Amino acid sequence: MSFDSLGLQEALTKAVAGAGYEVATEVQSKAIPPALAGADLMVSSSTGSGKTASFILPALQKVLLSRGDNTKRREKGVVYGPRILVLTPTRELAMQVAKAATIYGRFVQGLRVATVVGGVPYPAQIAALRGPLDILISTPGRLLDHLQTGKCVLENVEMLVLDEADRMLDMGFIDDINTIADHVPAARQTVMYSATFAGHVGRLAANLLRDPQRIDIASHTDTHENIEQRLHWADNHHHKNALLDHILTQRDMEQALVFTSTQRDADQLADRLAEMGHHVASLHGGHPQGRRNRVLQGLRNRQLKILVATDVAARGIDVPTISHVINYGLPMKAEDYVHRIGRTGRAGRNGLAITLGERMDSGMIRRIQQFTTQNIPVATIAGLEPKSPEPKMYAQRPTGGAPARFGGKPSFGKKPFAPRGGDGFQHRGGEGFAPRGEAYVPRGADSRPPRDRSPFDRSAAHFEPRAPHGGDAPRSSPFDRPSKPAGFAPRKPGGPAGKSAFKPARPRPGGFTR
Ligand code: AMP
Repeated sequence: MSFDSLGLQEALTKAVAGAGYEVATEVQSKAIPPALAGADLMVSSSTGSGKTASFILPALQKVLLSRGDNTKRREKGVVYGPRILVLTPTRELAMQVAKAATIYGRFVQGLRVATVVGGVPYPAQIAALRGPLDILISTPGRLLDHLQTGKCVLENVEMLVLDEADRMLDMGFIDDINTIADHVPAARQTVMYSATFAGHVGRLAANLLRDPQRIDIASHTDTHENIEQRLHWADNHHHKNALLDHILTQRDMEQALVFTSTQRDADQLADRLAEMGHHVASLHGGHPQGRRNRVLQGLRNRQLKILVATDVAARGIDVPTISHVINYGLPMKAEDYVHRIGRTGRAGRNGLAITLGERMDSGMIRRIQQFTTQNIPVATIAGLEPKSPEPKMYAQRPTGGAPARFGGKPSFGKKPFAPRGGDGFQHRGGEGFAPRGEAYVPRGADSRPPRDRSPFDRSAAHFEPRAPHGGDAPRSSPFDRPSKPAGFAPRKPGGPAGKSAFKPARPRPGGFTR
C-alpha cells in the first residue's frame, strides 16, 4: 500500500518519501488508518517490521493538526507538557523512536521532541519537560521520578504509546506504567505494541485500552526469510572462542553484534577481541548513557566492526549494516533469541544469525526451537568440527535442502554470505547440506594480517584463558573516557595514536532532539 492512501498529511508523506520509503509495510498499512481515526490499538508486530513509523506517523499527524487549531493556543510561560507520550523499555529504543520522530517530522514546523531516559543527568531533562513539547519519549522509571517530583506534566497527553509493552513488564515496570497512565487524561488514545498479549500484558491492555482494535502482524513463529540461522556446537569454551574468531574474520562479515549472557562476559570478550586487533566495543546496562551513545554512533558510522552486547543494551539497535548476529552466550529467555536475531536482516538486507552452543546450552536451544517452532540448522566449519558427539535434542531433524532461513525455508538462489569463494561453512540438517565453496584456508594462506593469537589453532597454548578482569588492572576503553580524544582504534601497534579517530557525538538525551 502506498503511503499516500493512508490518510497522512502531505508534510508526513513527503518526509517518508524523503526517507526512501515508497510502500508502507504491513503494520503501517494496517495500523496507521485506525490510529489516525483515534482508535485504541493492540498491535503485535516484530521489530524490523516498520512498527515505529506505524505509531509515530499518526502521532505526528496529531501534532500537525493541533498546529492549525487556534482554540488550543497555548499561553506563554505555562507548562503544558507533551501531546504525545511514548513509553519504551530501554534508552536505546527511546533514542530510536526519537530519531524516527525527527526524520518523519522534518516538515512539521517547530516540532519539539524530547527523550527522558535513565542514566543521564536530570537538569537537561527537567528543562526539556518545562519547555513547549510535542512528543515525549521516555523509559518508565525515569519518567516516574519526574512525575513524583512534580517536574512532569502529563495532563495534556492526547496519545499514549506503549512500545514493546511485554518487555517493559518483564523489566518490572508494571506499577510505574500504571502510575504514569493514571496521570494521563482518561480521554486519551492509547496504542500498545507487544510481541504477545497473553497473561499480564493482556491484563495491562484491558486496564489501559478502550475498545481496542487488535492488529496481528507477526509472531515469533513467523518466518524471517532474509535471516539465515546456524547452530555451531562447541566442545568447550576454547572451541567456542575459536569458532567465534573464525566467523569474525570472514570476508563477508560487515559488522557483527555478539551477544553475551552477562555484562562481565561482554567486557571480557570485547577486551579479548580488541587485543586480537578487532575494532570492537562492549555495550551493556552498566555503562553510562554517554558512552552508549558514542558506541552506537561508532557502530552506525562503521568505525566499530564488532559490538559485544547484552540483551537489554542491544534492544532497539537498528543498524542495517549488521550482517551477523552471534549468540556467544545464550539468552535467558527464548523470546530474546528472536529479538537478538532481528538485529540483523534490517531494511531489506540479508542477515546471518549464528548460535555457538555448548552441551550445557542444549536445554535453552531446545526451548528456543520450541518457541519459534523451528529447528536451527546445525553447521560446522572445516577444521573446527566438534569432537564431542552432538547433543541429542531434535524432535525431528530440519528438513529441506539448503541452510534454512529463519522459518526453515530453503534459500536456493540466495547466497548473501558466500562471496568470493565461499564462507568455509558446512551445513547439515538434510540432503543438500553440502559445503559451500572452498573450505577454510589455514592461517598464512590468505591475505589476512597475522595475529598474535590464531583463532584456528585450538592448541592449549593459543587458548590460555585470559586473566580475569578486575583486580588491579582496570579496563580501558575509548568509550569509558569521553573527555579524552577517543578512537575506535584497537590496541594494536600502528593504530592512530592519541589522535581521535572518532569524534564523540554529543549525547542529547533529556534535551530536545530537534
Ligand atoms: P522498526 O520495525 O520500526 O524497528 O523498523 C525497522 C526498519 O524498517 C527501520 O530501519 C526503518 O527505517 C525501516 N522502515 C520503516 N518503514 C519502512 C518502509 N515503509 N519501507 C522500508 N523500510 C521501512
